[in-house]
Amino acid sequence: MRRIETRLIRNQLNRSENREHAVPLYLTSSYTFENADQMADLFSGQQEGYVYSRYANPNVTEFGDKVADLEGVEASWVTASGMAAVFSTFGALLCQGDEVLACRSVFGSTHQLFERILPKWGIITNYVEFDKVDKWEESITDKTKLIYLETPTNPGVDIIDLESVGLLAKKHGLLLIVDNCFATPINQRPAKFGADLVIHSATKYFDGQGRVMGGVVVGSKVLMDEIQSFARHTGPAISPFNAWVLSKSLETLPIRMEKHNQNALLLAKKLEQHPKVQKVKYPFLPSHPQFEIAQKQMNGGGGILTFEVRGGLSKGKLFLNRLKMISLTANLGDSRSIATHPASTTHSKLTEEQRQVVGISSGLIRISVGLEHIDDIWEDIVQALA
Ligand SMILES: *Cc1c(COP(=O)(O)O)cnc(C)c1O
Repeated sequence: MRRIETRLIRNQLNRSENREHAVPLYLTSSYTFENADQMADLFSGQQEGYVYSRYANPNVTEFGDKVADLEGVEASWVTASGMAAVFSTFGALLCQGDEVLACRSVFGSTHQLFERILPKWGIITNYVEFDKVDKWEESITDKTKLIYLETPTNPGVDIIDLESVGLLAKKHGLLLIVDNCFATPINQRPAKFGADLVIHSATKYFDGQGRVMGGVVVGSKVLMDEIQSFARHTGPAISPFNAWVLSKSLETLPIRMEKHNQNALLLAKKLEQHPKVQKVKYPFLPSHPQFEIAQKQMNGGGGILTFEVRGGLSKGKLFLNRLKMISLTANLGDSRSIATHPASTTHSKLTEEQRQVVGISSGLIRISVGLEHIDDIWEDIVQALA
């Protein structure tokens, strides 16, 4: 078999009679049938093929197949956004009375699902701490159905030991679901450690250039069939155009991630030496509290790091205001470097005390390190710190 770098480029839809080199865009909502018998067979599932783009579309299939290949699993389901992938997964797999065991530090909207949406259907979530995996077992009840986590976490870039959690899930017969958005399958493949499903916001590194939204969940054929039947009838389908963009983007994912990893590690090392900076956190810095675990389960540290500007909230904001090149925006995983200040934005509704619990200090800055020349990224940061 060819290597993954090649497969991402060469595993694409077959050419049409026009012999196009790039894959065409299948902007069609439905597909025609040769005759009534074929129509009946396709509808009943006796024959495989395209029927309607809420169900499946060639561009969407191509993108989903590539992600399943990247994660080393059988099947995929692609959605309009990362949250649509998360919600479709819960909607398909959870029933009234079920419980979720989730790491406390999850993406904001996922947390809202746990707190406000799932409880409407009698599904409750018990939270556990990222650095106390040995205690997670105490929170498992006979109603627990699945374990849900992200690693590295957002925004703290904390690392959770996938091997330990994988063994725990197996021991108790629970599904393990990992949101692998920060690492990407280039840096980490959770299925190797026992994850049953892996979820991505394709909006981030898969696109990698801040253009389109998308989401995807991958796993075994059996589990994906359940998610597929939920999603087909509830309609979180991605547009063929977005799937086409994302599939093309995956062609460059390996080389982009290599550069994101390189730039972020270089920046993390430089920041550690700067007198106005403290507590630089990056999974592949030896000073990271879970450095050993990161080394064990990741091939690269990824593109996201955090640090604190000395002087707290006001100095943190001042730093952001002084940046000239690095963008202030809510996205991440872009070719352009992005800075955010969680305390005054995504986590501003929390009290100072609540923020401490999830590891967000007032001066914490998160950088999604882009693909610009590292010297230009560094120069912008140095002049803003001055
Ligand atoms: C962005 C993000 C999501 C949600 O994805 P959308 O595409 O914005 O819906 C989920 N998890 C993580 C870790 C994210 O960064």
